[in-house]
Amino acid sequence: MTDCIFCKIINKEIPSYTVYEDDDVLAFLDISQVSKGHTLLIPKTHVADIFEYDAELAARVFSKIPAIATAIKQHDPAIKGMNLLNNNGKLAHQTVFHSHIHLIPRYEDTEVDGFGLKWQTHEADFDQEAFQAMATAIKNRLEEA
Ligand code: 5GP
Ligand code: ZN
Repeated sequence: MTDCIFCKIINKEIPSYTVYEDDDVLAFLDISQVSKGHTLLIPKTHVADIFEYDAELAARVFSKIPAIATAIKQHDPAIKGMNLLNNNGKLAHQTVFHSHIHLIPRYEDTEVDGFGLKWQTHEADFDQEAFQAMATAIKNRLEEA
């Protein structure tokens, strides 16, 4: 896509710090470095968000996460954990509409802002029946797919 910043990064029209590349994906350091080593994994095929993947593309992209995550973790022994984050849609804080997965290393003493995500718990709004109905409805959709 011509005016997509991440397509431009894939095409080397915009420089980036590549950490991994193959026929299907590119992983590069996020400019914002929410924590040291913050990396983005993107498909080379332009898809805006998770809703535009098919299972085959998802397999080719998401299957790369463990190796890249492990390499990031191993590059600095101070990394004790990692958040994987994939924002989909403006409401979900997506700002670049070429799908990407954030790999955000976590260090013992580093506070990491949750990308504006404010969790509130709502379990009190749902009784067992409502939980079961939601689960059944989602399961039915999957079985129909
Ligand atoms: P989102 O909010 O869509 O989940 O995340 C978009 C991410 O892309 C942000 O963390 C932002 O720092 C990163 N980003 C935006 N433009 C560029 C760029 O030109 N180069 C790199 N390396 N990262 C970018
Ligand atoms: Zn793109």
